Amino acid sequence: MLVMMKLHATSAEIEVVCRKIEAMGYRAHPIPGSTRTAIGITGNQGPIEAAAFESLPGVGECVPVSKPYKLVGRELKEETTVIDLGDGVQIGGKELAIIAGPCAVETREQTRAVAAAVSTAGARLFRGGAYKPRTSPYSFQGLAEEGLKILEEIRRDFGLKIVTEAIDVESLDLVERYADVIQIGARNMQNFSLLKRAGRSQRPVLLKRGISATLDELLMAAEYILAEGNYSVILCERGIRTFTDHTRNTLDLSVIPAVQRLSHLPIIVDPSHGTGRREKVIPLSRAAVAVGADGLIVEVHHQPEEALSDGNQSILPSDFEQLMKEIRQIAPVLGRSVISNSVRAI
Ligand code: PEP
Ligand code: MN
Repeated sequence: MLVMMKLHATSAEIEVVCRKIEAMGYRAHPIPGSTRTAIGITGNQGPIEAAAFESLPGVGECVPVSKPYKLVGRELKEETTVIDLGDGVQIGGKELAIIAGPCAVETREQTRAVAAAVSTAGARLFRGGAYKPRTSPYSFQGLAEEGLKILEEIRRDFGLKIVTEAIDVESLDLVERYADVIQIGARNMQNFSLLKRAGRSQRPVLLKRGISATLDELLMAAEYILAEGNYSVILCERGIRTFTDHTRNTLDLSVIPAVQRLSHLPIIVDPSHGTGRREKVIPLSRAAVAVGADGLIVEVHHQPEEALSDGNQSILPSDFEQLMKEIRQIAPVLGRSVISNSVRAI
């Protein structure tokens, strides 16, 4: 059940409702909307009596939740969540969030070369894994904390916000100290202990769709994070496994409007893992923007043939510049914008 407060309900009135929910042994999730605050309730096993709340001052109405997820649904919050990372960088707002960088942080030189290029081209967020979930235990596993330190330098020297992956509860403890956004990868989408730990973090979380996850499973995974009190979650479509053999995965762009109908969380697209092929990254980026995604996460490498991971799908800095040029033209059709590189260049 959701407790919808009245238009001008005071913070004291909201507080009284939350206290009552907690006194019943449940957890209250007050979520401010553009016009009024909705309070989600979790922890209850069965239905809750609306009458217990409807007589409280400031309460508008109590609405039963029709979906298995209570906090990620649009029933709780009508408008899309905008995640503010500071310095004018937002995810879910009018400006598209463009995250670019190598698959993995390999060396300081490699990371700086890519950061310089993507920042000049207009990216405001930088990606790069310090912990890599690899299919083979013999493949490059990432530089761990040394990689996180390089990312910290990138934030300082290029003014880019850092998005980097935590692969388990232990790495999350370290990642949250260095990252602006914690990435949870496709393989971990249903790692429930990791999701719960991310839910207790102060950092926003980028949650990638599992390789065979349904829309409901993706939303329920996000629900784990919100249920712990972290409401800053960005969903990411990164391709699912199908029978196609011309791409690594099939990028399910049709999930974007489906998510947007059901959930208030922003959703971005990863055309790199979504296709696995460099030449498909720009076309699918155009399509992702056109379908209404809130942003992109793209792998870029200055020497992709030398990359320690995902070289085949990493685009060159010059390709990234072209990608930005093209989406700058498409975005306005959707009422969105992409910051111009001349404004951004440092
Ligand atoms: C990545 O972003 O490099 C990555 C491993 O992504 P995914 O979890 O989508 O495979
Ligand atoms: Mn990768």
